[in-house]
Amino acid sequence: ATPTALMVGTGRGAQLGILIKGPEVLESTRRVDTVVLDKTGTVTSGRMTLQEVYAADGEDETEVLRLAGALEHASEHPVARAIAAGAEKRLKGASAQSSPARAVAGDGWDLPGAEHFENVPGRGVRGRVEGREVAVGRLYDTLPEELAHARRQAEQEGRTAVVVGWDGRARGVLAVADAVKETSAEAVRELRALGLAPVLLTGDNRTVAEAVARTVGIDEVIAEVLPEDKVEVVRRLQGEGRTVAMVGDGVNDAAALATADLGLAMGTGTDAAIEAGDLTLVRGDLRVAADAIRLSRRTLATIK
Ligand code: ADP
Ligand code: MG
Repeated sequence: ATPTALMVGTGRGAQLGILIKGPEVLESTRRVDTVVLDKTGTVTSGRMTLQEVYAADGEDETEVLRLAGALEHASEHPVARAIAAGAEKRLKGASAQSSPARAVAGDGWDLPGAEHFENVPGRGVRGRVEGREVAVGRLYDTLPEELAHARRQAEQEGRTAVVVGWDGRARGVLAVADAVKETSAEAVRELRALGLAPVLLTGDNRTVAEAVARTVGIDEVIAEVLPEDKVEVVRRLQGEGRTVAMVGDGVNDAAALATADLGLAMGTGTDAAIEAGDLTLVRGDLRVAADAIRLSRRTLATIK
């Protein structure tokens, strides 16, 4: 008899926008008491936009943006896309003002090419642009004071700040903004009402993570976690006796989704996350995570 109720639960899930891998998945939600939420693309939209460009004393903002854009052009990371798109847009605009003919010809604003491109997971990108060794991300240990200040300022506003440098020296900071999804605060309230403790998990900077957490009403924040270490965080929570649901969208969330007692993938996310999850939230609306928990509890109650 029980498989029938589980099948009904599965069908109702599809109506709510929840794809369930198999009826047995509903069983795993029974004891879940903690819900780990990835930040970028899960709590936030993940559609980042370039907001500010700062250059260190003696450096040129346009040059900072041009070299960073050239390098990030080769990366798929949301931060990289924001920087490449922002660089193209701003440099094109600047070129159109100074030389309309060139801009019309589509010339003069194109980003230069990058060579020896290297992705450093959870930290940034490196490569060679116009003979210079360029790095973008969190790859410099020391910053000139004015850049440290610009970075702090951006992070306190909840923006991700990345450092741009070349030939061994940090020369600029780019601030990238990612909006918190309108539905995230409500989703966190619903998850709490179901008795789950929310935890925000991210590779991003602590100050940024705390600003986002405040906005949506989460007080447990685990930040600056390298992509390969997200799964360790899930294991650690499990080791404390917690039963963990994880919601994520990225390639870097896949192992954590697979290890969690219940893995919920954003349907708007990467294939790797969707394959690793037990459930997919089709529309990428975090409130549906609460619907999924509610549905499975109701389905299991029907069985008993
Ligand atoms: P999240 O856990 O929020 O999805 P990641 O682990 O992918 O974040 O990245 C963590 C941090 O590493 C980013 O916030 C950024 O500071 C830096 N980073 C990662 N990739 C890049 C990149 N391509 N360019 C610049 N910075 C990057
Ligand atoms: Mg993410």
